[in-house]
Amino acid sequence: MDPLDNVYALAFGAHPDDVELSCGATLLKIIAEGHRVAVCDLTSGEMGTLGTPETRREEALRAKELMGYFAREILDLGDAELYYTPENLRKIIRIVRKYRPDTVFCNPPEERHPDHTKASRLVQDACFYAGLQRIETSLDGKAQHPHRPRHLLHYIQFRQLEPDIIVDVSSTFERSRTGVMAFGSQFYKENRTGEPTTMINRKEFLTGLEARAHSLGEQIGARYGEGFLLSGALAVHNFSGMFAPAS
Ligand SMILES: [Zn+2]
Repeated sequence: MDPLDNVYALAFGAHPDDVELSCGATLLKIIAEGHRVAVCDLTSGEMGTLGTPETRREEALRAKELMGYFAREILDLGDAELYYTPENLRKIIRIVRKYRPDTVFCNPPEERHPDHTKASRLVQDACFYAGLQRIETSLDGKAQHPHRPRHLLHYIQFRQLEPDIIVDVSSTFERSRTGVMAFGSQFYKENRTGEPTTMINRKEFLTGLEARAHSLGEQIGARYGEGFLLSGALAVHNFSGMFAPAS
C-alpha cells in the first residue's frame, strides 16, 4: 500500500477536461498496471464559453469516478488569468509535495490557448522547485518535505506536435471516452439548440481526436496511440524492456 497520498502519476491540466482529452487513455493504462493516478486542474474553466464553473466542477468530479483516479484537485488559479506568480507556483508545489508522484503529465510547451502554454511553464518549474529544501510550504499546518518527480511528460493538445514517445492505448482508448463525455457541457450533442458554436463543441472535434489516436497508433502498429513530448532525456535502464524483441 502506498503511504498516505503518494501516487505514481499526477496529471495537471490548465482546465478541467484537458487531461481526459489528451492523456486519459494513458492514465487508464497506468491504473490497469496497478498504480495510483491523481489529477489536478489548475482552474475550474470559468472563462469557457460553455458551462458554468459549478457544472464544470461537477463534471470533473464525475470524470474522476468514471476514470478511477485516486484523487482530483481543482485549484482556482484563475482561468484566462493563469499568471506566473510566486503564489500560483507555490500552490502547484504544494500539490506536487502532497502526492509525491514519480511521473507528472502537463500541457504542451507551445499551444493555441495561452493558458495551456502558461500552465506548462508553471507545472514544469514547480516540479523542479518542489525538490528544493529551502522553498518551504505547508499543508494543513504541517511542513511539507521536498519532492522532485523523476519524469515529466507533455501531452499533445491543439497543435500537431511531433511526439517523442507514443503509448499503445488500444486497450483503454474507447473506455477513456466515457471520461471525456463526463464533460457534457463542452462537447457535441445531438439536438442541442441555442448554444454558441465553439472550437470544441463541433461534431468534428471528437471525431478528429479519435482520428489522431488512430494515426498515432498506426505509427507503432497499434489500434490507438497517445503521444507525448519528453522533458529531458529518457533514461533506459532495461534495454530489451524498452526495445522489445519480437514476441
Ligand atoms: Zn484547456
